[in-house]
Amino acid sequence: MRRRSEGPGEGAEGLFDVGELAAAPAGETHDRPFRDGERARRMLDVAEIHAEPAAADSLRGRQIIARFPEARIVETESHWRVPHLHGNAGNVERWVRIKRDTLVLGERKSFVVRPNGRSADWIAPGLSNGCAMACAYCYVPRRKGFANPVTVFTNVDRVLAALGRHVAAAGPKREPNQCDDRAWVYDIGENGDCSVDDLISDNTADLVRAFRRWPTAKASFATKFVNPDLLRLDPRGRTRIRFSVMPPDDSRLLDVRTSPVPDRLAAAADFLDAGYEVHFNLSPVVIRPGWERAWDELLRAMDDVLPRRVKDQAAAEVITLTHNEDLHEVNLGWHPRAEEVLWRPDLQQPKRSENGARNVRYRTGTKASAVESLRRLIEARAPWLRVRYAF
Ligand code: SF4
Repeated sequence: MRRRSEGPGEGAEGLFDVGELAAAPAGETHDRPFRDGERARRMLDVAEIHAEPAAADSLRGRQIIARFPEARIVETESHWRVPHLHGNAGNVERWVRIKRDTLVLGERKSFVVRPNGRSADWIAPGLSNGCAMACAYCYVPRRKGFANPVTVFTNVDRVLAALGRHVAAAGPKREPNQCDDRAWVYDIGENGDCSVDDLISDNTADLVRAFRRWPTAKASFATKFVNPDLLRLDPRGRTRIRFSVMPPDDSRLLDVRTSPVPDRLAAAADFLDAGYEVHFNLSPVVIRPGWERAWDELLRAMDDVLPRRVKDQAAAEVITLTHNEDLHEVNLGWHPRAEEVLWRPDLQQPKRSENGARNVRYRTGTKASAVESLRRLIEARAPWLRVRYAF
């Protein structure tokens, strides 16, 4: 899909090996879906499915169960309470195994569309909850515990109907804002990663196709996983994919089980050519010795690697780290090296969240000066990258 004359530039000077996306491993071809190949299986190899009865009986539920014919089906009353599956007990090997080999099927009960105003205009009721990846700073497990695998919601029609009603009621967007000039933006992946969800079912595809029909609206989701199957969905500009990036050294330490940052950048042009709008989340920004130099290198590499047509439409969100006391305790048990950079009481202050979580953020002055530094770096190294918002 990449036009040759606009391929990635040169000069990344060893920081990145680009082109990983296009190179399918031996035995894996582009004719069969990525989700059926070896790399997808490394992420998800489902052996056990905990299912609410109605979810198992639904069309989507039956499709998922048929997709993993070897999996043992275990009936569960509620996707919120699956014994031995949620929580923080045990070591990371166990959590990762659960994330790889276990799924939960449930029905979504709430269809509320929440206002946001930062990353998106609205937060859509998502079609999943939980993630097969295991980033050390992730806020998604705060309700179910770090060991939570993906829960897939099977009542897709009800979610799409609720979204359709909301889009119709909102009408056209009259005033541009930083979310988008013309479209109301709906975040469809607040509690998981839609690219990984697509390895399991067509939920992400259904959302992308639905937004194709709504000219006043646009879907948006952040991802740390490169799933080439999404290139086939023909989003016609109505879905914004936001590749989250951070300096590769930080990512190797903190982004457990994700696609390498160079792969995410190498994928950007393919996704643009396939009809997505491609933005970047510079997040989380983690303050540690040498962090400015690392971001400087990343931004230079983005400038070198990304083709002009990606730059022309790109924008970014800059999000400094929010951490959490409970997550800190959990991480000390399995990934103490991550905590050396994530837990910085000398720089952080408590911030009680709406749901009572004991979060910490960088102190106001520290955060403001970090954001300012990063803005300056962007201006110097990637002046084409419009910052939609930074906090
Ligand atoms: S990819 Fe996103 S949702 Fe998944 S573990 Fe990482 S931060 Fe959490």
